[in-house]
Parts: sequence; C-alpha cells; structure tokens
Amino acid sequence: MKTVDTINFAGKKALIRVDFNVPMDKQFNITDDARIRATIPTLKKILNDGGSCILMSHLGRPLKKLKEDGTIDYEKFTLKNTVKCISELLGADVKFAGDCIGTDAAQMASALQPGQILLLENLRFYKQEEKGDEAFASQLSKYGDVYVNDAFGTAHRAHASTAVIANFFPNAKCFGYVMAKEIANAEKLMKNAEHPFTAITGGAKVSDKLLILENLINKVDNLIIGGGMAYTFLKAQGYEIGSSLCEDDRLELCLELIKKAEAKGVKLMLPFDSIVADKFAADANAKVCDNKQIEQGWMGLDIGPKAIEDYCETIKQSKTILWNGPMGVFEMEKFEAGTKQVAVAVVEATKNGAFSLIGGGDSAAAVAKFGFENEVSYVSTGGGALLEYFEGKELPGIKAING
Ligand code: AMP
Repeated sequence: MKTVDTINFAGKKALIRVDFNVPMDKQFNITDDARIRATIPTLKKILNDGGSCILMSHLGRPLKKLKEDGTIDYEKFTLKNTVKCISELLGADVKFAGDCIGTDAAQMASALQPGQILLLENLRFYKQEEKGDEAFASQLSKYGDVYVNDAFGTAHRAHASTAVIANFFPNAKCFGYVMAKEIANAEKLMKNAEHPFTAITGGAKVSDKLLILENLINKVDNLIIGGGMAYTFLKAQGYEIGSSLCEDDRLELCLELIKKAEAKGVKLMLPFDSIVADKFAADANAKVCDNKQIEQGWMGLDIGPKAIEDYCETIKQSKTILWNGPMGVFEMEKFEAGTKQVAVAVVEATKNGAFSLIGGGDSAAAVAKFGFENEVSYVSTGGGALLEYFEGKELPGIKAING
C-alpha cells in the first residue's frame, strides 16, 4: 500500500485531505477531537521528514444548512474553530487561510517553510467541492508537491479534494496512516478472514443495509440480524410484529435474502424474542415477548434474553467478527441489554483470539458507551465509507490513490 512511509517529505509541501469534521457545541467548542487526534501521526511524519503540511477538510454541510436569511453560516462552519485544537495536539503553530482558494491561500501556501502548517478554510463553502469540479481541484492542487489522503470518512465520495485532485499528482500521491489502517483492517475481513466469520448487523432500517447483507452473504458463515431491521424479516416470514419498525416495501427482498443464505449454507440468525414496549420512550412499559406473536400496540425495542443467548454463543465461537448496527435502542437503558451483551461476547471472542472490527456510527458509539473501545480489535472511524466498502464497492478515495 502506498502510504506516507514510502515518501521522504524533506523540502516538500504535502497537501493533505483530512477529516476535521468534528462535533461542536453551540459556542463552537470541539466536543470530540478524535478525528483530529487520529491524523496527528501522519502530520508528524511529514513534519519530521522536513516537509510542510497544507491541511484541507470539510466541516458540516454549510450549503445545505443555510441561515434563516438564506446566507451561509460562516461563523458556524468555519474551520478556524479547529485551529487551537490542532495546534495543541501538534504542539506547533497552525496558520489559517480564510478562503480555501484565491490569492491569499496561494500566497500563504507558497510562503510555507519546512516544519510549518497551514489550514485552509472549509472546502464545502464551494459547491464545486462536492460536485468534484476539476477546475476547483486544479486550483487546490497547485499548493502542494505531494497529495496525501487521510480522510477515510469521505473516501466513498468522488469530491474534488478526495478523489479528483489525485489526477494532478500522478506520481506523488499516497495514503496517510488513518486511511492505511482503515483499509488494511477492512481488507483483512474481506480478503483474509479466518473462519468462522460472523457478521452482526442491526440498527433501524433494513433498506440501508440490504446491499451490505447481500455482499456479506458471500463471505460469512453466520449473519446475525438484530435491531429494528429484524422485524421486517420477521414479518416477511408471516410473524405478527405489532407496532415494531417495518419496511413493507422490503418484505420480498428479506425473503430473497433468507433463501440466498440458505442456498449458500450461511446461518442467517433472527431473534427468537424481544423486549417490547408500549411506546418509543425511556419510561415505556416493557416486557419480554416471543417474536412469533407481538401484540398490537407493542413494539420490539431490543432483542430478548433467548436471542441474546443464541447470538452470544455464535459470536464467542467466531474467529472473525464484523459488527455494524446496535441490537436495540441502546440509547435508552431499558433497551440496551441486547447491544451490551453482544458487545461483551465480542470482547470475549477477541480475548480468545478473534479479530473484531466495529463499524463506525452507532456501533462505535455503543461500544464506547459500554467502555469497550480498547477491548475489540479495531473501531472504524468511517460510517458510510466502511458500509460501502463492505457492500463491495470500490471507494473513489482509495481508487484515486491506487489507480
Ligand atoms: P442505524 O443508523 O440504521 O444503524 O440505526 C441506529 C439506530 O437504530 C439507533 O439509534 C437505535 O436506537 C435504533 N434502533 C435499534 N433497534 C431499534 C428498534 N428495535 N426499534 C427502533 N429503533 C431501533
């Protein structure tokens, strides 16, 4: 893999696409700096070589979330709010260009000395970024000698700064450490998985996960389905699911998936029972219920004790585990047990030598909530990008460097 380790950056300006799309509170203080923290080793490698860093990123969706008067909310979406954090984590000054293109940015980039760092303003202040505009990518490309992509979270987007720009660096482009690690871990599952390989999928919507399920059926031995999406599968099989989440337009597809799994010898596992509630609320009345017969007015908000036992037994016997999506509404204490016990089983399997990868988004949040981040093999930072990878798609951000 072409990583920053294959290049000596001495005297070179590295133009680095990072993912500094960090959450902030109303006063624009960063509430979780994990994404910035993650890129520090890449930046340090370049600076230690004697290179300089020009950082570019997006922050939120400024053109989609306009102010009430229809103008761009520069105050909210400026990357200037990240300068202090980057500077503290790096232990160095960070210069800031108030526009990502134009003469000021060009001059600041051109004046940059080895060891110095320049952060460009939010790329998404320009619609050309998400459109993958070539002229825009060309303007950005002029700032650097080497292009580095370290933004796995946007690797599934063919944007100007994530993919198109790489064309301007045919012989001087590489992955940063964040990207390299994400790709290596994802590849380990897709190309070199030790068996038994168990995929655990959950979350609210089956429609979001159908493509990944279809692809995973070709790879795994066990496919565990929990969370809200399980009820569409149960209804497809003729069960009464009460008021549980259901996507009626996907019933046929669920049946097809069940058949496909059978034909391939994959054990597709659905929950035997649920914790049902009389409303979607933390203080709802709740009880255990067999999944064959959920009463009207009740909804499944977590997998039940029999399902937990069934799932955990399979997980503990696995050598490779991919987990994407919670087993229930884990944000509410009454409905967290399924997700928590599955997390405990994943941790136990990991202790026994399994390789466990936790997909970003809600599964990562759940694992963090229960304090298990360091007891699984790897927690991915890229939600959408990881999903598309497991759907079997070639990610534009990866292709742009490899191609
Ligand atoms: P997703 O973004 O599709 O991975 O869905 C994650 C969300 O699904 C979480 O916020 C969970 O609270 C929610 N969820 C999980 N299980 C259920 C369920 N049985 N009913 C409703 N929502 C659920």
